[in-house]
Amino acid sequence: MVTFSDHSPITFQDALPDAVDVVVIGAGVIGTSTAWFLSQRGVSVLLCDKGRVAGEQSSRNWGWIRQQGRDAAELPIAMESINAWESLSKDLGEDIGFTRQGVLFTATTDRELAQFERWLEIAGQHQLDTRLLSGAEVDALVQDKPGQFRGGLFTPSDGRAEPFKAVPALARLLQNQGGLIRENCAVRALDIQAGKVSGVVTEQGRVRANAVVCAGGAWSTLFLANLGIDFPQLTVRATVVRTAPAPNIFDGDAALGEVAIRRRQDGGYTVAASGVNEHIIGADSFRYFFKFLPALRTSARFLRLRPGNHPVQGLLPTRRWREDQTTPFENTRVLNPAPSAAALRRMRAGLARRVPQLANLAFEEAWAGMIDVTPDVVPVMDEVAQFPGLYLATGFSGHGFGIGPGAGRVMADLVLGRPVGHDLSRFRLSRFYDGSKMVPGPGL
Ligand SMILES: Cc1cc2nc3c(=O)[nH]c(=O)nc-3n(C[C@H](O)[C@H](O)[C@H](O)COP(=O)(O)OP(=O)(O)OC[C@H]3O[C@@H](n4cnc5c(N)ncnc54)[C@H](O)[C@@H]3O)c2cc1C
Repeated sequence: MVTFSDHSPITFQDALPDAVDVVVIGAGVIGTSTAWFLSQRGVSVLLCDKGRVAGEQSSRNWGWIRQQGRDAAELPIAMESINAWESLSKDLGEDIGFTRQGVLFTATTDRELAQFERWLEIAGQHQLDTRLLSGAEVDALVQDKPGQFRGGLFTPSDGRAEPFKAVPALARLLQNQGGLIRENCAVRALDIQAGKVSGVVTEQGRVRANAVVCAGGAWSTLFLANLGIDFPQLTVRATVVRTAPAPNIFDGDAALGEVAIRRRQDGGYTVAASGVNEHIIGADSFRYFFKFLPALRTSARFLRLRPGNHPVQGLLPTRRWREDQTTPFENTRVLNPAPSAAALRRMRAGLARRVPQLANLAFEEAWAGMIDVTPDVVPVMDEVAQFPGLYLATGFSGHGFGIGPGAGRVMADLVLGRPVGHDLSRFRLSRFYDGSKMVPGPGL
């Protein structure tokens, strides 16, 4: 089993300190990386998770570490990030399966090929090794059914790692370096003094801090709502499968029409279906509908709307609570949605159509995750103007695993007031309120 649940053992249980320099809320890849880089800079940190380290998106993702196809403003951070993954993989003392075997997108239409060509310009501006491939070159890379694709886009320096190992390993490294980590410890609210953040109120007590980083993934909107901040972020359910060991037809990450595959360290594949990301309709779907319209227009064909009881928002969500009240964070320790039967069927059909050698592989495990998405499909990395000392790193919109260590380094330097080395204007929080036009980045 690779998926975490409420029943997974609690492994990080440092005592709650009275005070630290920085509290980080959320021990996914973003929060853990931020805490790691802060700790590297000599700052005392407490990393709190309501559930488990990497319990949500950060262990459930496909494990693609990609620069290819990223938003132009994100690409420099993604490039820094894959280098950070590479060096971390040597320092961790645990094999997290990091390797650079490339990311391959394939095209069956001229329209897709033209899109690839446009992105090549961005790659060229950053000296990335992305290449446009002919159909024959795609066939040479993917050792299965030839003649299906008009061409492809391939970045050999892109990589992969095992998500369910990588973030817990980084958390152990952080702990060995003196960083404090506490699982099953929801942060309920902030302490504010003289208009500035002075700490947090957790379900187990108060901790004083000079700064707080909210890296709450799918829960960030709810956390901010309690502070009176209306933050437009929605979630999309995505289903994933781990197969039995399989012939090695491609050693990297490949999107092959309706199916996506990623070679695993254990000799199987991580498989997903494109076109069946599902949005479960909740109160926020209506609240933020107009903000998400531009993204909906560009990605509607990849999205299915589903009625249901949204696990984060519900239909009548609790958006305000007192510090002494149990919060929604404590009611759902680990967001562990059921996999989608439609997605599983599509994967099976996609494997049979695109990679027949993998068609009959046993699906040994299936799980789903809730992806946090912003209206322009790129994250927020910023200080929250209304609450000096509160920083937000959320909304990584389906690509936060790859960019995680890069984003963590950026956030650490932002908190410390040091130069961050990248232009963060695209990631500012105010873009959702100041009338800026929403220009969606590349889809999920
Ligand atoms: C199915 C799937 C496939 C994906 N594939 C890829 C991929 O191949 N490559 C890629 O780069 N990205 C991928 N992603 C996206 C990537 O996984 C996410 O962008 C990334 O993991 C987000 O990390 P995070 O730390 O922001 O959020 P999360 O990992 O969701 O962590 C947030 C944490 O905050 C905690 N939390 C929330 N509120 C509180 C609170 N009040 N107090 C304490 N703790 C709190 C939660 O318990 C949670 O553990 C995929 C995602 C999914 C779901």
